[in-house]
Amino acid sequence: MTRPGPFPSGATPRPASGSPSPTLPPNMAPGRPSGPPFGQPPPFDGAPPPGTRPSPVASSSPVNMGPSGAPSGFMSNGPPAPAFQAGQRFAPPGSSQHQPPMGAPPAMGPPARGPPQAGAMRPFMGSPGAGASQVLPPSGMGQAAPAFGGPPQAMLGSVASPYAPQMPSQPVSMVPPMPGSMPPPRMYGMPPPMQNQMTAISPVIGQTGGTQPGASKIDPNQIPRPIPSSSVILHDTRQGNQANPPPPATSDYIVRDTGNCSPRYMRCTINQIPCTADLLTTSGMQLSLLVQPLALPHPSEEPIQIVDFGEGGPVRCSRCKGYINPFMKFIDQGRRFICNLCGFTDETPRDYHCNLGPDGRRRDADERPELCRGTVEFVATKEYMVREPMPAVYFFLIDVSMNAVQTGATAAACSSINQVIGDLPEGSRTMVGIATFDSTIHFYNLKRALQQPLMLIVPDVQDVYTPLQTDVIVSVSECRQHLELLLESIPTMFENTRTSESAFGAAIKAAFLAMKSTGGKLMVFQSVLPSIGLGALAAREAEGRSNVSAGDKEAHKLLQPADKTLKDMAVEFAEYQVCVDVFITTKTYVDIASISVIPKVTGGQVYYYHPFSVVSDSVKLCNDLRWNVSRPQGFEAVMRVRCSQGIQVQEYHGNFCKRIPTDVDLPGIDCDKAIMVTLKHDDKLQDGAECAFQCALLYTTVYGERRIRVTTLSLPCTSNLSNLFRMADLDTQFVCFLKQAAREIPITPPLHVREQVTNFCINILLSYRKFCATVSSSGQLILPEALKLLPLYTLGTFLFVSCLINVSIPYVSIVLDICT
Ligand SMILES: [Zn+2]
Repeated sequence: MTRPGPFPSGATPRPASGSPSPTLPPNMAPGRPSGPPFGQPPPFDGAPPPGTRPSPVASSSPVNMGPSGAPSGFMSNGPPAPAFQAGQRFAPPGSSQHQPPMGAPPAMGPPARGPPQAGAMRPFMGSPGAGASQVLPPSGMGQAAPAFGGPPQAMLGSVASPYAPQMPSQPVSMVPPMPGSMPPPRMYGMPPPMQNQMTAISPVIGQTGGTQPGASKIDPNQIPRPIPSSSVILHDTRQGNQANPPPPATSDYIVRDTGNCSPRYMRCTINQIPCTADLLTTSGMQLSLLVQPLALPHPSEEPIQIVDFGEGGPVRCSRCKGYINPFMKFIDQGRRFICNLCGFTDETPRDYHCNLGPDGRRRDADERPELCRGTVEFVATKEYMVREPMPAVYFFLIDVSMNAVQTGATAAACSSINQVIGDLPEGSRTMVGIATFDSTIHFYNLKRALQQPLMLIVPDVQDVYTPLQTDVIVSVSECRQHLELLLESIPTMFENTRTSESAFGAAIKAAFLAMKSTGGKLMVFQSVLPSIGLGALAAREAEGRSNVSAGDKEAHKLLQPADKTLKDMAVEFAEYQVCVDVFITTKTYVDIASISVIPKVTGGQVYYYHPFSVVSDSVKLCNDLRWNVSRPQGFEAVMRVRCSQGIQVQEYHGNFCKRIPTDVDLPGIDCDKAIMVTLKHDDKLQDGAECAFQCALLYTTVYGERRIRVTTLSLPCTSNLSNLFRMADLDTQFVCFLKQAAREIPITPPLHVREQVTNFCINILLSYRKFCATVSSSGQLILPEALKLLPLYTLGTFLFVSCLINVSIPYVSIVLDICT
């Protein structure tokens, strides 16, 4: 939610290849927004501030033991290393926004804000275990390191340590309560990181299996930790006509699309598909896809190819409407083809006919991107349009109530907008509009003929309207000077205002009415609780606090919207392709839970700056806004995922509007937006066959081109349970689960959510232990190799969920961010 935008161009040039790395602060984003990449757990916004690296000498004091005392042990949470490394290796000339989306470092709060959550988390981090932990000699750590393929020691030391102080107490409670494995374990005989192996964590020799809390004998240095690979992985999506399991989402990788899509665009929780629903249930895992259709590619990757089929449009299956892809099988000398999604046989369009080679493939398969690439973009024909592709409309709505002006939020917003005007897409199709609001709404006529922008006031905040049908939104090339002048004068125009009311709901409705004919992006800068007019909200903060202090279990309901007015408005906005982003620059309570419904339904985003400080947040606000308007994005989008027979889409999760069961409507979509798609069986799959998933995103580019981005992933089916564990994708599994947990949080008491999180982990590990483990000493915790970090990740979720028990408003933003 509070993803910082990229640094201004040239502000943080990537270090040249080979330049020394260890001096870069671990929280420095090398140019990409530093929000949580979707493939890794969120940083909880409470990561310890980057501090001084503790002494590398292993201390005999139990308090200091753990990763902080490990000179070469394990990389702790937080993946700044790969992001930085990517910068080193692939310094694209003059570019700072092509950071691979998976490798970004965790979001760190601005310094002024500090990590207040850290204290709140501590009680849930388990226990006092650090005090009783067993300290292993440094040699033990040295032995364990290579087992995880750790990066060079210098690298570890330089980037791992800032997070280390948080680690010592974690391992104590990270071991899930496996039957018979209660004693604090110690791991030995770590296998190399082969995917088909497992990790066994045994109790310390000599322990009797006692269960005294706090009497941990875990050596924290031997607990599996995420250790980003120090080298770039070159990944072919298919090899030898077989799907190649993707590298970890947190690693630094370059993809070559050899038939399956890049994992940046679509990843599955398991890289082999269980043949039956029963097998999936037995595994305890879930089957879902994470789709990020406009994800940023790595700068070294080939761009997506654009295919124009002319007036006929792309070749599609006539039954399921699936798009032509490398897995459609041509038969009968190429005259017909069998759909890999529904199995239907179609006639090949005459002008698309081509003979088959001796291998049964079309002779032109390698020349046609749609027959050899997992991701292609088709030029859409008129058939895919209900109107002309919309222009790129950016409407800025600024809070000028007394509070906003006095805190400097209004000036910061105006200045930010002024600075990013030049970053808007070039061309005559780019339009802008601007309005301000307090207890009334003020539009501005930006037409060039006028001497200066003319203010038009809408006083009715119950039944709003737009004062002008034209001239409120004009081409940026026509009004640039007017706009700059206006933005410079707005803070002074309202500097003496005494109006403290905010008609937020009415203002966005009025802006929507101005944008209704075109659609576009509405960016709202809001500083106080909406207090009057349409969609006014009441302060619920006090209510929440009293509930919490009274031990009320309903406190989580504060995370639910207060009423339906804003939701209804949002649905209408989405229908007219208006996507709303809200920048909350506030020092007070603003009821994000209610306001965020609007971005959620319209495919937008909430940015949260609390407590807003002109000094520390102005640059961040500007960077966020710059990235918001300059990142790859599209408008008036519709997305659908199709699956092979036997599997169907169960549900979509993300920020969108849904009118029909099969499609999601996205008034706006950008490279940072991911959508989770849960899947279910409706039939049995054949062992050894392949099951395909195809995501089609129909959208309009910022330059007014209508496109269909088609992403196809074909994975083998298996009836072997151990294959599922071997091919599990930890990052995707966990992110999917986290999204579901985050969705539950507003409607379920946090303790229940926490229990669900625990059970998710336990069920998987129990299934593996029961059915697949080759070692089954009762005291051992057995972890499938591919999921060996699951307990650690689960513990991380505990911190997050547990904090919600003390419902503090900033956590609302975390929940919403994960839901995104
Ligand atoms: Zn079909």
